[in-house]
Amino acid sequence: MPTWNTRLPRRGTVNAFELKRCQPTGPTKGIITCNNLLCCDTHYFGGRTIPCERIVNEHGKTIDDSRCLACRARQPWRPHAYVSVFNPKLHEHFIFECTDAAAQPLEEYFNANGSLRGCLMNAYRASTRPNGKVTIITSAYDLRNQHLPEPPNIIAALCTLWRLPQTAVNTQVENNGRITTNRDGDVLHEFHLPPDNEGDPAMFQQRREAVLTELASNGNGQQHAKRTKHS
Ligand SMILES: [Zn+2]
Repeated sequence: MPTWNTRLPRRGTVNAFELKRCQPTGPTKGIITCNNLLCCDTHYFGGRTIPCERIVNEHGKTIDDSRCLACRARQPWRPHAYVSVFNPKLHEHFIFECTDAAAQPLEEYFNANGSLRGCLMNAYRASTRPNGKVTIITSAYDLRNQHLPEPPNIIAALCTLWRLPQTAVNTQVENNGRITTNRDGDVLHEFHLPPDNEGDPAMFQQRREAVLTELASNGNGQQHAKRTKHS
C-alpha cells in the first residue's frame, strides 16, 4: 500500500554522486567545486574499480599488501585523481576521475591559484579510442553570475561508490597530509566486494551478517563519525 505525504522527504547528507570519466565521444566540462584534488591508488579487479588497500610508508613504499585483495591476487594498481565538478548547463554535480598523468594541469592550477574551486575544466580524449590520452585544459571561471554549490565529501562519495561499509565512510585518519579510511578487521575489509564477484554466496551472506552485527553494536557507526588527527 503506498504511503502519501504532503511534505518532501527530509534529505540527509547525500553521498551518492555519479562518477564520470572522460569519454571518447565528447569532452567532459564543468567548474571544479572542491579546493584540491584527491588521489587514491586503485585496481581494476573483478570487473570494477576498487581502491588499493596496501599500507605504504611516508615515501609511498609498500609496507604491507596482505590486506588488499587485488594486491594479493598480484593485480597492478594505478593512481587516480578525483575532483568534484559542477556543470551549470546540465545542472549536474559529479565526481570526475582521471589518471595522475592527466591530472597534472589540475595540480599546476592549484599551485598557481591556491585552490581549484572555480576552475573551468575541459577534459577530452585526443582520439576516439576509449583509452586515448586525456588532455585537461584549465581556466578561471567568472563566478560573479554563477552560483557554485558546496563541494561534496569526495572521500565519502567514493566510499559509497566503492561499497565500503558505512563505518568507514565517515572515519578518516589524517597523518602527514595522507588520509586513510579507517577500517577494522578482515570482515569489514572485504565487505565492499559485490555479491556478483563472490564465488560463494553463503560466505558473502556470512560476512554480511557479521558486518551488520558490528554496525548494530556500534550504534550504526555514528560514534565512529569523527576525524582523528595524528601529528
Ligand atoms: Zn592493492
